[in-house]
Amino acid sequence: MAVAFTFQTHISTAQTATMPAPSTVFGYKDFSKEAAIEEKFLAVPNAKLAGEHLKTLTAEPHIASSPEDHKTAEYVAQKFRAAGLETEIVPYRVLMNQPKTVKVEAFDATGKQLMSGPTPEHVEGDPFDKDPRVVIPFNGSSGSGDVTGEAVYANYGRLEDYDELAKQKIDLHGKIVVVRYGANFRGVKVYIAEQRGASGVIIYSDPQDDGYYKGDMYPLGPWRPDSGVQRGSVQYLFKYPGDPETPGVASTPELQDSARINPEGNQPHIISIPLSYKDVAPILQSLKGPGVPQGWQGALPFRYHIGPGGVRVHLVSQQDYQRRTIWDVIGKIKGTENPEDWVIVGNHRDAWVYGAVDPNSGTASMLEAVHGVGALIHDGWKPKRSILFCSWDAEEEGLIGSTEWVEQHAQQLTNAVAYLNVDVAVAGPDFSASAVPSLKNFMREIAKSVPSPVGDTVYQEWRANRHGTNEHRASNAPSQPNEEVHVSDLGSGSDFTPFLQHIGVPSTDIGSGGPYGVYHSVFDNYAWFVMNADPHFAYLQQMARVLGLEAVRMADTDVLPYDYPAYAREVKAYIEAAKRKAADGGLSGLNFAPALEASARFAKAADHAHQLQMNPPADLAEFNTTLRAAETAMTAPAGLPNRPWYKHTIYAPGEYTGYAAVVIPGVNEAIEAKDSGRASSQLAALAQSLDKAAQTLESAH
Ligand SMILES: [Zn+2]
Repeated sequence: MAVAFTFQTHISTAQTATMPAPSTVFGYKDFSKEAAIEEKFLAVPNAKLAGEHLKTLTAEPHIASSPEDHKTAEYVAQKFRAAGLETEIVPYRVLMNQPKTVKVEAFDATGKQLMSGPTPEHVEGDPFDKDPRVVIPFNGSSGSGDVTGEAVYANYGRLEDYDELAKQKIDLHGKIVVVRYGANFRGVKVYIAEQRGASGVIIYSDPQDDGYYKGDMYPLGPWRPDSGVQRGSVQYLFKYPGDPETPGVASTPELQDSARINPEGNQPHIISIPLSYKDVAPILQSLKGPGVPQGWQGALPFRYHIGPGGVRVHLVSQQDYQRRTIWDVIGKIKGTENPEDWVIVGNHRDAWVYGAVDPNSGTASMLEAVHGVGALIHDGWKPKRSILFCSWDAEEEGLIGSTEWVEQHAQQLTNAVAYLNVDVAVAGPDFSASAVPSLKNFMREIAKSVPSPVGDTVYQEWRANRHGTNEHRASNAPSQPNEEVHVSDLGSGSDFTPFLQHIGVPSTDIGSGGPYGVYHSVFDNYAWFVMNADPHFAYLQQMARVLGLEAVRMADTDVLPYDYPAYAREVKAYIEAAKRKAADGGLSGLNFAPALEASARFAKAADHAHQLQMNPPADLAEFNTTLRAAETAMTAPAGLPNRPWYKHTIYAPGEYTGYAAVVIPGVNEAIEAKDSGRASSQLAALAQSLDKAAQTLESAH
């Protein structure tokens, strides 16, 4: 049976919120009236209804652009309309691949066949794995071809892993690289393999990372069974996301072909194929050559070797690239006082297969947030600012639905006060959040106002960190004395990327995690979800409350609650860390003084703004516009070197990490490349944007 968390037995599924409303909230002159609105909102999101949304949305496989995907768009639109939102389904025409043929065979030195795959995903008792519409495992943005080569094992396919192979004089030209999932974005694994001359890549899920090494396999537990495969895009996301033919331009159905570019230079050319460890085990087991270095051994029951030698692999991948139609659903309630100031809530709807956790736990939560907002609307409430609920399509292929929409509305979005994302809303009970520094405290305040299913607040559970998942991992942020719970930085891997990193909309992202070994496989389905993640849908209800409360509070606030002193502290620490890194790396002669001076000026201006936020001026609209403009000031029109689509000077997905944020990316990546000329000019660009942000906040009065 399912792995049960001990405390799940006393989860209450009570539908009413019993939280005492906070007496003050940063940004409100008098919170008492708003407290009553929030209380009313919190009572509406319903666990049972959230479970029904999830069941309906995940009844069929619904990969982007399929008829089943369109059906889910209709379902979401119907719920938006029922709540009183002005709703439209917005189509785009975008280039995407779907697999025609995917084949992998391996042979030993004598020519004996070791395996032939991919093996269909199957476990005894799963009710969903036999549907003929389940797409065969493939990588979005993979090249096509038919190649044969010696296998070489490259661990996680990180830059340092490939460098280790180079150190051991293992030439990757013409080789088939076998890498395991984890540690970085899969597109990065392929990007470096291609740079090093490999002719194909196999990406597999090692049981050490999300299989039996972690715990019981589905259907006994939540971890990946031997045939489970992680599909996924290998797009060069760190260059730009969205439709590969239209960076910076929206792929509306009317867009002329002449406005599209040839995307060749920005996409993988080599084949990559995702596999299960059941299929990869015979390859790795027969591989000869040197034994693996420390840390490269996975959990398959034999000693791993690097190769080459012992195994030849034959890969066939025929990908059908076409311009396909996708559908975003946008539901809007117009604000009464500042209708041009948008609060945007977003979640993607498309899934590789059924997507119970990723992304439809998010969709179910968003629909119950909409239900709550709808109840307020029904009672005559209208927000001060407009709220837009957005159901994105084709996120899995490369954040396509959100990126095209952002590119279409770039002008208008300079007024957007926040983008509030949810993707994997519920894989388990462990709440976590990421945000720009100016909204980290906002996230903590929201978590203090929402009840958790185990009795106290989401915030208390978050801080208690019962399962140790809320480590200060992969963050460069300095810990603050008042920082009781850690809010992470935004890297990439979900739909906040175009909002924050392309045009500078302050963003947040939330989720509730747990043991989850079925990511992007056929087993991420309703049966798995009920068995392992959230049997009573109590966490779907929790996430609906958190997400909806973020929107309501942000839409009604008197003063926008951006915490710029926190932003300034983080930026200062980023610059100091880069300075140490430059010195350690022997990059002398770099002048950090102007950037540090600009950051000190920004800190001072942030304090000035903070004082005014607590004692707000009469012209609130003007003051709020100024506060908002400080985030835009941190974008540079020229963008980052070699990737001009990314315009934010403080945050970007790393070229060699993909998911994890690289902070002050222009500077740090130049230092890593030991390019002092580029580092100098990027330090100047950073100083300029911090000066601009400081100047903006100084002008507040
Ligand atoms: Zn997702």
